[in-house]
Amino acid sequence: MVKMESYPARVTELGGLAIRRALPTRERRLVGPWCFLDRFGPLTFAEGKPMDVAPHPHIGLQTVTWLLDGEVIHHDSLGSEALIRPGELNLMTAGRGISHTEETPTSHSGRLNGVQLWVALPDAHRRGQPSFEHHASLPAFDLPHGSARLLIGSWAGRLSPALAHSPMTGAEITVEDHGELALPLDPAFEHGFVLLSGDAVLDGQPLRPDDLYYLPPGATAAALRSERGARVFLIGGTPFAEPVLMWWNFVARTPEEIEQARRDWQEHRFAEVPTYSGPRIEAPELALRLRGTS
Ligand code: MN
Repeated sequence: MVKMESYPARVTELGGLAIRRALPTRERRLVGPWCFLDRFGPLTFAEGKPMDVAPHPHIGLQTVTWLLDGEVIHHDSLGSEALIRPGELNLMTAGRGISHTEETPTSHSGRLNGVQLWVALPDAHRRGQPSFEHHASLPAFDLPHGSARLLIGSWAGRLSPALAHSPMTGAEITVEDHGELALPLDPAFEHGFVLLSGDAVLDGQPLRPDDLYYLPPGATAAALRSERGARVFLIGGTPFAEPVLMWWNFVARTPEEIEQARRDWQEHRFAEVPTYSGPRIEAPELALRLRGTS
């Protein structure tokens, strides 16, 4: 059996909302093309807008938004508007550049619980046209003692309709109480697991909530069991062959590209999000040292 590695999530915040960030960490920058994983909630609120991310830009990545509870409304510079609910996927492909907002809608359940992940685009696609997709219907699996939903890429012989530019998996696995699942894995992929709720043991390893558990390529299956029931997010893909440079909301390859994208945002060369009332997010100062994955 290949050896599992674990990486603790770190606590941070996004527009005032508490976040646990499982990816990237200092020791693990990528899992396949997946380069970012933020966990928010569960929380309840009576008033206000716990999710209120003002206009900001992206390049070179896709954002994958998935809710366990509550709702978020997305607007972007293409004119897209999409309310996302649990079980639905919002997928934004930044390509050469897009800006967007994510907010708790005016009419809401008073609950918020979900994840947002980023996928690094390969060189052949990272300067492509930006696009946005909302998927209300995704491949669903009934498993003995559980179920799964495939968001993007492929898993267990099925393919998601969501736009994907490199071989990957993004799925949510649900284990029933006292259930044990044998999850098939592609041995060409590396994989990451994050416990979203409940309790779970993966290949004999008890999972802490929100931390990243990593399996290198070579694994053909993983055993997931739970006493009281669990939901686990599964990511994976072929190891990303290109060195990736991440800074703020940008995924690029060189410091010059990052500097250019920062200037383009600060000098208003990205298209705007017209629906948002309030100031946009200004880029932070560019530190001299940019951290890459290579
Ligand atoms: Mn964003």
